Amino acid sequence: MAQEKQTAWELYHSYENFKEKILTDRRFKHSDIVPLIERLKNNKIFKVDKVGKSVEGRDIYLISLGSGKTKVFLWSQMHGDESTATAALFDMFNFFSDDSAFPELKKLILSNLSILIIPMVNPDGAELFQRRNIFEIDLNRDVLGQQTPEAKILKEVFDSLKADFGFNLHDQGRDYSAGNSINPASISFLAPSPDYDKSLTPPREKAMKLIGNMVAVLNEFIPGHIAKYSDDYEPRAFGDNFTKWGTATVLLESGGWRGDREKQFLRKINYIAMLSALNSIASGGYANTDLNVYDSIPRNEKFMMDLILRNLKITRGNTDYVVDIGINFEEININGAKDFYLKAEIEDVGDLSVFAGYEEFDLSGYTVEPGKTKPEPYHSLDELEKINPVQLYRDGYTNVVLKNGDSKGEFTYLPFNIILNQQSFGESKIKPEEAANFIIKKDGEVRFTLVNGFLIDISMIEIWHGNSIVYGK
Ligand SMILES: [Zn+2]
Repeated sequence: MAQEKQTAWELYHSYENFKEKILTDRRFKHSDIVPLIERLKNNKIFKVDKVGKSVEGRDIYLISLGSGKTKVFLWSQMHGDESTATAALFDMFNFFSDDSAFPELKKLILSNLSILIIPMVNPDGAELFQRRNIFEIDLNRDVLGQQTPEAKILKEVFDSLKADFGFNLHDQGRDYSAGNSINPASISFLAPSPDYDKSLTPPREKAMKLIGNMVAVLNEFIPGHIAKYSDDYEPRAFGDNFTKWGTATVLLESGGWRGDREKQFLRKINYIAMLSALNSIASGGYANTDLNVYDSIPRNEKFMMDLILRNLKITRGNTDYVVDIGINFEEININGAKDFYLKAEIEDVGDLSVFAGYEEFDLSGYTVEPGKTKPEPYHSLDELEKINPVQLYRDGYTNVVLKNGDSKGEFTYLPFNIILNQQSFGESKIKPEEAANFIIKKDGEVRFTLVNGFLIDISMIEIWHGNSIVYGK
């Protein structure tokens, strides 16, 4: 194990040499990865096959390397908006393409294993950055139904390989925490159950040991941020059936990491996790891992929110009360799902002491009230550009009305919301499911505002980096 940790640290420190620089965020498309796959054909260690097409005709590729007798099958992005591991697979291809670095590790892996990889099982979903395929079917509920070409391809490849090990690579929501800790579940694992009784069959036990081994390695880098996905049996899912059909299957889910919405750090962790797992399968070292390691991984819980404002006072009539306010952002795709803006919603109000925020602010001594809409309308975007936002906030407003002006879209980088149709926008309230626009005061003076979930210190308005919403579009 000490040797495996040492190797993992070397992979960590040399990562930038292998990182695929074409892939810079989560929203890359099939057209971005095809040239990278085609390039692999120039290197004789890779075999590149087309194994079928998506509904919209995008090629799905199987990439093979290694000549060993243990077969390891990895597939990613069955859900189109879960791309972290796909990017890491291309980093891994670069790692194997380079013949100078890590010669012993590569020799061990490639002589003992045959590695088979489908990156981006759901390219049509990736195009729209959505979970489901273009038929709006969740591929991970179609292993039995086989109504989608993508699920058929995955099943056919699986059947043709009868792999010893499988890696089912996904992303999970940012709201998962590692147990009841204040840490996001940045990587969650599961050795899926082969039946409702959650039987401990030999392939499942193998997967558990391998996961225990991966956890021991990853604890070097992300201690306290590893969790275990629910082991409830899902008879329509790939991982559960692959386990039932004899493959030691590991589910790996990339969750959230503070300050890393684009998950580029977690991509690096995926790269280390996969290479470490291949190392350990090739050496057989994983088999020595105690099952207790797997058992003691904390469960995925849902105690994370994007933002928590703590200890704010609300005044209603003659009564004051103190609350925490939790806020989550939704990502809304724009520009053909190549980009996104954020839309905030209040998740909960009250005692949120059991929750943790990706960001938190203690606002003890401050009072909060809903941001109001300025009643006098504006008539052009030019007029809006000239608004002094600090004066707007001091008057209690976070929203303005724009009449007969052309709006720029569904969101704006101005530090206030724009309402196009005043009738459609009621009075703001501080309660769950409402938009998150607040005026925050101390001693009667406005000190902070929250505009679409972005906290603004009004003495530093110029460093605003958020986006507001255009309502009534
Ligand atoms: Zn998924």
